[in-house]
Amino acid sequence: MEKVIILGTGPAGLTAALYTARANLEPLVIEGMEPGGQLTTTTEVENYPGFVDGIMGPELMDVMRRQAARFGARYQHGTVERATFSPGQHRIELEGGEHVEAATVIIATGARAKYIGLESEQKLIGRGVTSCATCDGAFYRNQPIAVVGGGDSAMEEALFLTRFTSDITLIHRRDQFRASKIMADRVLQHDKITIRWNTVVEEVLGVDQQEVTGLRVRNVQTDQLDEIAIKGLFVAIGHQPNTAPFAGQLDMDDIGYIRAQNTRTNVEGVFAAGDVQDSVYRQAITAAGSGCMAALEAERYLEAQGQ
Ligand code: NAP
Repeated sequence: MEKVIILGTGPAGLTAALYTARANLEPLVIEGMEPGGQLTTTTEVENYPGFVDGIMGPELMDVMRRQAARFGARYQHGTVERATFSPGQHRIELEGGEHVEAATVIIATGARAKYIGLESEQKLIGRGVTSCATCDGAFYRNQPIAVVGGGDSAMEEALFLTRFTSDITLIHRRDQFRASKIMADRVLQHDKITIRWNTVVEEVLGVDQQEVTGLRVRNVQTDQLDEIAIKGLFVAIGHQPNTAPFAGQLDMDDIGYIRAQNTRTNVEGVFAAGDVQDSVYRQAITAAGSGCMAALEAERYLEAQGQ
């Protein structure tokens, strides 16, 4: 039986791997279906402390991975299909039938941004289509851009983007925002944001699938089609935490985020770090920080168990 199994290889999982490896716990890290996590789908990361000139997302994850490996972290390909948690012996079943067992589990399976689901959108993700204004807003200085969504995330993204450009179109499929009134009012009153109500994106227009040039949109009430020239599309229609394999086993909120107290879940020896338990900050650095916390909590737990 393993002392520590870490599920996920984003900043939370790899930081937990680094700390538990340095504590001689020889963590086994299950890589998940997207090794490196969400950062591998972004280009340049300019807001991770320590890199004056920024660093490419995939490179940052590669460095973190190698750093943890240097101290003994072991990596295994695999996607979690199901988990059965029982204090002292947690069982993780992987796709393909294999299973692993451990005294402690650190869940760092992350979350994924929801996208609209258009083929044209998928092809341009990372090339003008993004789901993170904090990460990518600065690339669109003085450029026309659009934000899709009507919740607090969309309001927050649109307001944040006003720092960079005064040409923001906010596209929402209904005639009323879902967002809290205070956030919605800020957007409604902002002179850099134009709102297109009752509108959906039908197609993201691009050049050779390398850059975004515009959107084809449709008014859902009149069916009228229109084109909007933009350089960047920020999709802000919510996130989905990757917690399906743990449903019914751990306390979660209505959306599926794990409820954790200082990374401790409601099951002894099971910890959660990163976006899987954080719907608020969702940054690489906060994920890494909570990965460190989870590792220290796991270490203390094992020590208390005499392991
Ligand atoms: P959300 O509240 O679920 O809102 C998602 C929005 O996207 C809705 O307006 C929805 O439209 C729209 N949408 C969903 N699927 C769509 C699709 N396929 N095409 C077009 N539009 C689509 O998600 P969220 O904004 O990410 O917020 C999640 C939670 O975090 C909320 O509880 C929110 O209050 C909280 N949050 C808080 C803050 C803050 O307080 N600063 C910031 C961010 C998030 P409909 O309205 O028509 O359903």
